[in-house]
Amino acid sequence: MGGLDELLQVLVCPKCMGKLMHEGDSLICTVCKLQYPFDEDIPILLIDQAKQIKIEYDESSS
Ligand SMILES: [Zn+2]
Repeated sequence: MGGLDELLQVLVCPKCMGKLMHEGDSLICTVCKLQYPFDEDIPILLIDQAKQIKIEYDESSS
């Protein structure tokens, strides 16, 4: 493993160019909160495949 973490260094949200974070079995844009699914471990960075989600970040916990 580790390939995904390296991918996350270079991948950006196709909508807003924001950073992506790995959350469960999806990637979530930290800026616009679009959730991109995985297909066979490949992140699908397509806006029309993404779901808008709402996340409350708790930056006080690790
Ligand atoms: Zn975004």
